[in-house]
Amino acid sequence: MFQIDKSKAKYEQAKQHLAGGVASSLRASMKPTPLYAESAKGARLRDVDGNEFIDYLLAYGPLILGHAHDGLTDAILMAMRKGYTYGLQHDGEIELADLLVEILPCADKVALSGSGTEAVMLALRLARAHTGKRKVVRFHGHYHGWSDSIFTSFPGAGLQQSTAAKQAATVPPGTMGQSESSLEDIILLPWNDVVSLESTLRAHAGEIAAVISEPVMCNSGCIQPNVGYLEELRRLTEELGIVFILDEVITGFRLGLGGAHERFGIKPDLVTIGKAMGGGIAVSAVGGKAEIMKHIDTAEVSHLGTLNGNGVATAAALATIRELAKDNGAVYARMEELFIKLSTGIRELLHKRHISGVINQVGPVFHMMFIDEKEVNNFDTFNKRDSGKYARFAELMLEEGVLLRPNGLWYISAVHEQADIDATLLAVDRALGLLV
Ligand code: PLP
Repeated sequence: MFQIDKSKAKYEQAKQHLAGGVASSLRASMKPTPLYAESAKGARLRDVDGNEFIDYLLAYGPLILGHAHDGLTDAILMAMRKGYTYGLQHDGEIELADLLVEILPCADKVALSGSGTEAVMLALRLARAHTGKRKVVRFHGHYHGWSDSIFTSFPGAGLQQSTAAKQAATVPPGTMGQSESSLEDIILLPWNDVVSLESTLRAHAGEIAAVISEPVMCNSGCIQPNVGYLEELRRLTEELGIVFILDEVITGFRLGLGGAHERFGIKPDLVTIGKAMGGGIAVSAVGGKAEIMKHIDTAEVSHLGTLNGNGVATAAALATIRELAKDNGAVYARMEELFIKLSTGIRELLHKRHISGVINQVGPVFHMMFIDEKEVNNFDTFNKRDSGKYARFAELMLEEGVLLRPNGLWYISAVHEQADIDATLLAVDRALGLLV
């Protein structure tokens, strides 16, 4: 029997002194209540009420090796025993930088930080320093972290925004409290649309420092780039002297060792990575062309952070990446194969129960939506999905022992097994049966 009494009580207790009751605003959206974890191992998580879940939330993406992976845990403990952070330099930073440059096709050099948000902030700063220009093109439906200069209204997030501010601005703020001028340099465009991209870049080339894009619109429907779109983005930015930043905070080390840019054969000028890179420990990086990264070498660009490159973070990233790289990254094909079985099975169950839905999948990540359209390949269509119905489905899945992100994005880890997929499909069948 699914129980939530203890989680509910803890949430009430947390709200007394923890602002919002959760540590990251999105987590408050979990229904029927934000759950409290007790422990987790592999693909399974147990909460404080004793419920056990097969986990496809995976901490919003980082847990590519699953929970409490033995090799990763050993590497972290070993690093901690040697001193977790020094404020001095150490071998781990050199080893990690060497490994990232070896693996990431676009990286001549890297810089280390602690979160995806910070990596994006640094990439934007590098682009502005390199070009001497200010404006940044970003796309509807993409998410690049929560810093003021890039965080705009994001329907996928379900965060509170001030309606007045949203209506007044061409680039609506993502939250109350964001300075009105913080988004002045942002140009917001529809994604996957070569015409608006080309006309905007050509018209404002003298002002645009960077175009930043997710390679796959993971944060809004897992929508793939149209054939030739990323290539065109690459070609135009190169021609017009604009830095092309690929935000691979989700796709880095998830779509393959070399991330989406290797998978799609695109070489951005800068790439941001985070999440899966550390297997669940806070670490992120910017990688890119030597001629841009050199602005850090010359100290023209400040790159700061008390805990950047700390021993635990570098050990976790090294252990995670080395584990993923075993047998030439064979684990990616295995994850993809299992996840295709899962998405195919869910599509069949939707069909069987005459429920309209779409699943967009790119390798070890997919987005499931309830929607009356045959396909979801742009942001406008994505916005037609029935997000309330999906939230209800995610709630029913909790009762069936499966932990999902309430917005529809599913991740798989290297330690999920066929038995998990089979059990999940039975759970989906039951949950869909109750979803009316
Ligand atoms: N960029 C992308 C594409 C993301 O999906 C996220 C987080 O979900 C970020 C940046 C921000 O990363 P973090 O939450 O580690 O700050």
